[in-house]
Amino acid sequence: MVLKQQSIWQIQVKVNNSWMWKQLLKVRDTLISKFGNVYNLHNAINKCCSGGKIIISSIYKEIAQHSPKVQWSDTVWDSWNFPKHSFILWLVFHAKLLTQDRLCHLGILETNVCVLCSNQSNENCQHLLFECQYFVEVWNNMMNWLDYKWRSCRWESITDWYSNRLRGKGFMKKLKRLALSATVYAIWTERNLRIFQQKSRAPAVLFHNIKISILSKILNDNIPGYIKEEIVKL
Ligand SMILES: [Zn+2]
Repeated sequence: MVLKQQSIWQIQVKVNNSWMWKQLLKVRDTLISKFGNVYNLHNAINKCCSGGKIIISSIYKEIAQHSPKVQWSDTVWDSWNFPKHSFILWLVFHAKLLTQDRLCHLGILETNVCVLCSNQSNENCQHLLFECQYFVEVWNNMMNWLDYKWRSCRWESITDWYSNRLRGKGFMKKLKRLALSATVYAIWTERNLRIFQQKSRAPAVLFHNIKISILSKILNDNIPGYIKEEIVKL
């Protein structure tokens, strides 16, 4: 045993401890420092217990930083969005998608060329999702299909429109959020398909697949019938 009858709250990290153990002690120290001392931390943990069990969601609320809601929150986390689409879009908003430029920066890759177009452009988030000709073709199809009143493939314009004009309720707003997250996800999977499986699909095929996924979501979900009828008319 690593503890050897010592208290978890007092034990010191040793050079030969495993990486996992060092990380656990690091978390412990972060929590002690957040709550001021061990006594306060114990009190906070006790508050999160019910019937002798720790309630994980209470612990999360106790520890999580309460930061203000970001403007693009509705765009990313709309209830119609597929969770995996939301996650990829969330990474895009945080500029954390592992594109080739980041992998080069981390020393994992040496070359950086977009696999979606033939322009020999460097692959970064801005190019892959918004400047690349492949994205432009798919996104233009999407804007035509859903009859967007504005047309832009620029990231700044898209996020600005979504964060301001497309916030709140209304099925067309929700549908357009679903469309953006589904498109971003599809572009990312197409990029991965080309890199890891040496397969490719034309922009029209990808757009067709995105449409199918959007329609299947709408028609299978618990969405009012009159909304489904409106969407099927598109
Ligand atoms: Zn490209």
